[in-house]
Formats: sequence, C-alpha cells, structure tokens
Amino acid sequence: MPVMMSHYVMLQRNLIYTGITRAKKILVLVGTKKALSYAVHHVTVDERNTCLKERLRRLLPTFESVSQDTIRNTAGLYLFPENPQSLNLVAEEADYGKQDKKPSHEEWLKIDLFERLAKSEFRSRFRLSDKDKEYISEKGMETIREHARDFVAKRLAPENPANDGKQTPMRGHPVFIAQHATGTCCRGCLEKWHGIPKGRELSEAEQEYVVDVLMKWVRGHVI
Ligand SMILES: [Zn+2]
Repeated sequence: MPVMMSHYVMLQRNLIYTGITRAKKILVLVGTKKALSYAVHHVTVDERNTCLKERLRRLLPTFESVSQDTIRNTAGLYLFPENPQSLNLVAEEADYGKQDKKPSHEEWLKIDLFERLAKSEFRSRFRLSDKDKEYISEKGMETIREHARDFVAKRLAPENPANDGKQTPMRGHPVFIAQHATGTCCRGCLEKWHGIPKGRELSEAEQEYVVDVLMKWVRGHVI
C-alpha cells in the first residue's frame, strides 16, 4: 500500500486503518514515515453512522429503568452478557418496577398470560426472524409442535434440568424464541410467569400446557 505525501488527501487515520486491517495474507507499506505519521494524526471523521448504539439499545434492557443497585450488582452482566437469561430477569425487574400498583404474585398470575406478556417490554420484544418463518412453513405446524414437545420434555420437564436458567438459546429455532417470549425458557421463568414450581418434574398435563402456550405464540407471530 503506497503511503506518500503526494497522495496526502488520502492520508487519513480511518483510511489507513482500513487499508492495513483488510490485508488477508501480507501487508507491505511503501512510502515515507512522514506520510504514515501524517495519516495517523490526520483524523477527519469523528461522527460514525453505524447505528450500533441504537441497535444495542433495542436489544438490551433499558438502562435508565434499572435501579442503581441492580446496575452495581450486575455490571459484569451488562458488559459480558454470556448468560442472556440472567438479563431476562434484570430486564423484567425493570418492567415490574414500572407498574403503578403491584398486585401480589398470585393475583398477577390470574390475569391472562398473553395480556401480562404484552405488558412486559422484554417479553414482547421477541420476534420470529424471516429464517424462523421460512423454517416453520417448510416443516409445518405439526412438526414444530413435536419439536416444542421434545424441547419441553428434555430441557424443561426434569426435576433439575441441565443448565437451568441458560438452557434456551436466543436463536436457532422458532420454539426457543417462543420460549423466551412466553416465560417458558427455564424453570425460574416458568415459576414466575406460570406459577409452576421448580424442583419437581413437570406432569404430562403441565408439559402439554407449555406446548400449547408456545404454539399459540408461534401461530400469532408467524405472519
Ligand atoms: Zn427463563
């Protein structure tokens, strides 16, 4: 890559950075140290138009709505969200705090599930991707239901499911998305949203109930 004063218009930090970092196998700079130094110090772009901030904001829970204590206790979590489902609970606490009068958990559970989910900023943000929708139309609802039944039986129904709290990926299958959206992603969420206690195996009826909830959500989001 030529780095010469005769092309000084091109000697800008962002351009030199791009040129250097795009090299696949080897990079040879030909020119003068002065030109390289000029380029490094010549910063013309300080406004970035990546929309990265906006996109991150949309994905992460609203920071302003989380209490200072929560932020202090979960700072690492925000910076390194390796465990997205822990984020669920933090985000939900934020949602919960926004309600005017807080009903007891029992009272709250009596309200229609989908009505409650719609009120949760976090849960209502989940959408099926085009890929998910394609997958559903390819496989058909009956197959998706079978997958849901299988996921529920293996990942949710046992008394102590493996990796409980992080057993449901954030993408990869439409049922996973539906699980996050309906609070059936782990036993903690199942207890909170559906009043089904942890620490014991789910009955057949309970498993079928969860599958019904998941399929209702999928049907409502497939178009
Ligand atoms: Zn969960």
